[in-house]
Amino acid sequence: MSTGHLTIDLGAIVANWRALDAMSAGHVETGATVKANAYSLGAAPVSRALAKAGCRTFFVAAAEEGAAVRQSVGDKPRVFVYSGHMAGDTDMIGDLGLIPLLNSIEQMTRHIEALPGHPFGIQLDSGMNRLGMEPEEWFAVRDLVLKQGPKLIISHLACGDEPAHPMNAQQLDQFRAMTDGLQVPLSLSATAGVLLGPEYHFAMTRPGIGLYGGLPFAEASPVAAVSIPVIQTRDLEEGEPVGYGNAWIAERPTRIATIAAGYADGIIRAASNNGTLFAGCKPCKLVGRVSMDMLTIDITDLDRTPSALEILGPDQGIDALAEQAGTIGHEILTALGNRYQRRYRGAP
Ligand SMILES: *Cc1c(COP(=O)(O)O)cnc(C)c1O
Repeated sequence: MSTGHLTIDLGAIVANWRALDAMSAGHVETGATVKANAYSLGAAPVSRALAKAGCRTFFVAAAEEGAAVRQSVGDKPRVFVYSGHMAGDTDMIGDLGLIPLLNSIEQMTRHIEALPGHPFGIQLDSGMNRLGMEPEEWFAVRDLVLKQGPKLIISHLACGDEPAHPMNAQQLDQFRAMTDGLQVPLSLSATAGVLLGPEYHFAMTRPGIGLYGGLPFAEASPVAAVSIPVIQTRDLEEGEPVGYGNAWIAERPTRIATIAAGYADGIIRAASNNGTLFAGCKPCKLVGRVSMDMLTIDITDLDRTPSALEILGPDQGIDALAEQAGTIGHEILTALGNRYQRRYRGAP
């Protein structure tokens, strides 16, 4: 095989969903955020596995992303859209039966005029200043909106992954003030909020990264493994350079393996001269710059040349790799490109 393998453990995704679900009380529904093609792991197979396990509500970022989810889970599960009802979305929302989370009075007007009677939800801004209706805007239209029967009202935490951050309690208070006394299901928490405790759970949670094995859900089962085949090896003398910009110079006689994945495959370029790959359980350093399609690895200390090296797997999860590249697990996963041969394990 000439490109890397990305192995996705659907059983682990289901186990992570169940573990997050078990953290909230029985009346709290646990949905699943499957935007960005389920963080690159495949929205269709991931949604299907979760629906089979009992997940009834899915969240995507853009209406287009709802198509793969709807196709794989059938008509019954609900599919909410974080970006709401944008211009040009009407046919998709109508045909696929998506539920936009309306972010502004403008979206509200568009939705009610274009698809009267079609279900919708509302996103409120409780302080993150990214998406959703601001308190003033919301209070101006609240009574009108309630008459139309919103299915869900959500907001999103800016600092949920820092449990001690005062912003969490501030946003909780603001969300409560904006929704006090309403008979509409509420949702405030992504993965981080689930871990903050029951006050943050309301009627529905919507974890993403925790399902896919990432922090802040430290106990998550790992989901993604990436193995990259060796194209060629060569032996260097002390003082010889490797790769673009001569960014690494051999300090000893060195055996280099050139392997078939690069930044086009989501190996973040900032990991240049600073990544680790594994041959079985033996670590090997990524040396030189990350190229578009290749990485160069110091395999001098291995007994023999492996046919492939792992960059994600049992010895190194998405957060360990993220640390080497100065990013977060979300970006490691969503950056994984289309060139990998994706294989699914543990399909229920
Ligand atoms: C992406 C997203 C989520 C899921 O976040 P994770 O950190 O991956 O759990 C939930 N809600 C909103 C509004 C989002 O944009």
